Amino acid sequence: MQPDCDCVVVGAGLVGSFAALALAAQGLRVSVIEQRAPIDANAVNDPRGLVLSAVSRRLFERYHLWAPLEAASNPITTVRISERGSFGSAELCAAEIGLDALGWACPADHLLRTLTFAMLDHAGISVHWQTRFVSAQAEADQILITSESHATKTNTSAKLLVAADGLDSAVRAHCGIAVDQFDYGQRALVANLSVSRPQSATAFEHFTRRGPLALIPLGGARYVSVQCLDTACANAAQHDEPDVYAAMLTRRFGTRLGTFTDLGPRYSYALTRQRAQTLYAPRTVVIGNAANAVHPNAAQGLNLGLRDVAALIDCCTGQTDPGKAAVLSAYSAARRADHVRVSTFTDVLAQAFRSPLAAVTGLRRMALTAAGYVAPLRRRVMLEASGLATLAHDAPRR
Ligand SMILES: Cc1cc2nc3c(=O)[nH]c(=O)nc-3n(C[C@H](O)[C@H](O)[C@H](O)COP(=O)(O)OP(=O)(O)OC[C@H]3O[C@@H](n4cnc5c(N)ncnc54)[C@H](O)[C@@H]3O)c2cc1C
Repeated sequence: MQPDCDCVVVGAGLVGSFAALALAAQGLRVSVIEQRAPIDANAVNDPRGLVLSAVSRRLFERYHLWAPLEAASNPITTVRISERGSFGSAELCAAEIGLDALGWACPADHLLRTLTFAMLDHAGISVHWQTRFVSAQAEADQILITSESHATKTNTSAKLLVAADGLDSAVRAHCGIAVDQFDYGQRALVANLSVSRPQSATAFEHFTRRGPLALIPLGGARYVSVQCLDTACANAAQHDEPDVYAAMLTRRFGTRLGTFTDLGPRYSYALTRQRAQTLYAPRTVVIGNAANAVHPNAAQGLNLGLRDVAALIDCCTGQTDPGKAAVLSAYSAARRADHVRVSTFTDVLAQAFRSPLAAVTGLRRMALTAAGYVAPLRRRVMLEASGLATLAHDAPRR
């Protein structure tokens, strides 16, 4: 008997929505289960400007999603990295590795809306809002998924279950997949603001012992500030008066962009590193934050999750059964190295820049100075950040 659909995707966040679209583009029938209500077309839910890498851009282009995203995105051609109290600094320029931009800052709300509307428009995708994953039972040739909406339980059969349900993935837990986890003891405070001397193609990453501070240009004078602070400080600073908070940003960052004005509300995000010990279970794969969550200091988490989707599609292409064990183990093998590389890179950045140890401080300053002066090292960092290093390591794929 044919299952109800080919794939059930749990989670209509950024990665799950993109996965649903990519799987449906393969001609597969996709059902999406999302516990929250549909997004409001106008409300601000998420103030972040998410930096999309060159590889992510290519993936969106492949599914004809880039044009509406590009319209709202600001290209970043230069990233300035500096450390408080140190003369060492590095400037990464897209032109040095032959790219137009190192990344594109896209408002997170716009990104989610674009993917959601594309999903809702697609005849091969059915989306079930306010529906929660409850359990799944894998059988030889299908998997039975139980979900719940307004106290009513529904069973759906599929060939493949895709867990895109984020950091606290219920699917992953149900499959008994353990995680390695580290809590940074910090939160990222995110706020939109304006600056009086914008450099709209330049992003700034400023490391301090209290945690990194990033200023991401959204275009014109608008920026997103991402300030990482110990949890207690972040909880207090979240409710500071806007002028008090702007003064704190100026103390930490200086006046390179002039003065900070029009500060919007601050949103707070916990900072955790987490990696699932395995990426699959019978007829189930784990992707996005459910598979691997990293510190946001290098703007890599979503880009990594989109590459999970690309690998899953590569492994499914030409297969009549996307949930068979060979597809799932091929997906897992394809993703491990990228996960380890990005997780390690972001973790070293997060830990090294906070360490008070003299030896670590010396090494870190040497590394930052070297990145400023040694072109091959600088290019290596940029290839990692753009996601292009993955293609070099894992090539050839498509
Ligand atoms: C401050 C900050 C800045 C960042 N900046 C960048 C950046 O510039 N570039 C970048 O690449 N990455 C960035 N990231 C990382 C990026 O935001 C995440 O990697 C990405 O959003 C993860 O998406 P996801 O779809 O995997 O998970 P989520 O966004 O967590 O989505 C999971 C979805 O699953 C749903 N769900 C959960 N449980 C269930 C259930 N039981 N049943 C049904 N549905 C369920 C949830 O409601 C949610 O919609 C940043 C992160 C932070 C915190």
